[in-house]
Amino acid sequence: MKPRILIIYTGGTIGMIENQATGALEPFDFDHLMDNVPKVKMLDYLIDNIQFEHPIDSSDMNPQQWCEIARHIERNYEEYDGFVVLHGTDTMAYTASALSFMLENLHKPVIITGSQLPIGEVRTDGEENLITALQIAADRDDNGRPIVQEVAILFENYLWRGNRATKMSADNFNAFKSNNYPSLAKIGLGIHYNPDALMSHRAKRPLQVRCKMDPKVMFVDLFPGIDEATLTHLLATPGIRGVVLKTYGAGNGPTKPWFIKAISEACERGLVILNVTQCVNGGVHSKRYAGANMLEEVGVVSGHDITSEAAITKLMYLFGVGLSAEEVKEYLIYPLAGEMTVL
Ligand code: ASP
Repeated sequence: MKPRILIIYTGGTIGMIENQATGALEPFDFDHLMDNVPKVKMLDYLIDNIQFEHPIDSSDMNPQQWCEIARHIERNYEEYDGFVVLHGTDTMAYTASALSFMLENLHKPVIITGSQLPIGEVRTDGEENLITALQIAADRDDNGRPIVQEVAILFENYLWRGNRATKMSADNFNAFKSNNYPSLAKIGLGIHYNPDALMSHRAKRPLQVRCKMDPKVMFVDLFPGIDEATLTHLLATPGIRGVVLKTYGAGNGPTKPWFIKAISEACERGLVILNVTQCVNGGVHSKRYAGANMLEEVGVVSGHDITSEAAITKLMYLFGVGLSAEEVKEYLIYPLAGEMTVL
C-alpha cells in the first residue's frame, strides 16, 4: 500500500514569490509551489492537498485558522497516514503548540514545515524540507505503526516536538530548536529517529479535536525598572483572563511589596498567571529563590520549562474548553501533550 499523505498549505515563505513592484515577498498558490518541486513525484506516495483560500504570511495567523487546520486533519484523519502542514516560520511554533493541544489522542504524524528561502529560489531550503517532511509523515515502524505520533516541526537537520520548539534564527536554515527537549530525529544521510524522545501511545483512543481557543490572554515581560503603575495597568487589561508572566532566571520577580501586592491582587480577582522564564534554556524552580517563591505563594502557577509559545496557547486552549480560572490552574500544572517536564 502506498502511503497516503495530505498536505495542508497555509502560506509562508516556502510558497512566496517576489512582488515585482515592491520587491517584497508575498504568499502564492500551491500549484506554484509544487511546480518547483518536481522531485516529489519520485516519492511513491499518494499525495493530496488542501490550501487556505488565501495563503498567508504566518504573521497573520490566528486561532480561527489553527482551528481550520485542526478540522482539516479531523475530517481526513482516517483516510490519510500522515499530514504535512506548510506554514511560515514566524509563528510556526505557536501553531505547532496550539495543534498539539487541539488534537487529543493523535496517533498519526502531523509534520509542520516551511522554509527560509522561497521554493523558487536556487538555494532554497524549501525543497529538502518538504521532501523530508513527506518522508517522515509516511514512515512506519516494523509493526506498521507511524513512527511519529504527534505534532512536530521539521526544519533542515532536525525534527522537534512542536510544542517544545522555538524559532531561534531569522537567518539560518536550522531556524528552530527545542531548548529544553532533545530532537525527535536528526536528519543527515538518513532520518535518525530518537525513540526515547518520541511520544508513544499505548491505548489507541479516537482522535478528539477541541479547537475553541480563548484569545483573552497576554504576555507580561518583566524588566528592571518596570513600575507599579505599568504593571497594575497591564494586569487590569479589560477582559484578560490569563497572563504568561515572563520572569528572570529560575522564575524570579522583584521582591518589593508593591510588586507582590499587584500580582496577588490580580490572582485574587481571578486572573490566572503562569510563570515562564525569560531564559532560553532551563525553567522555573519556585523554591530556589525568594522572588519565585513569593509568586507561588500568592497563586502564580509554575510553567516549569515550557516555551512561551506553548504557555500562551495552553492558556488559550484551557479557557477555550470552558474551564473556570480555578480549573485552568489545576490543568496548567500537568503536561497535556508533552509540552513541559515537571521535576
Ligand atoms: N514571514 C514569513 C512567514 O512566517 C517567514 C517565513 O515563512 O519564513 O510567513
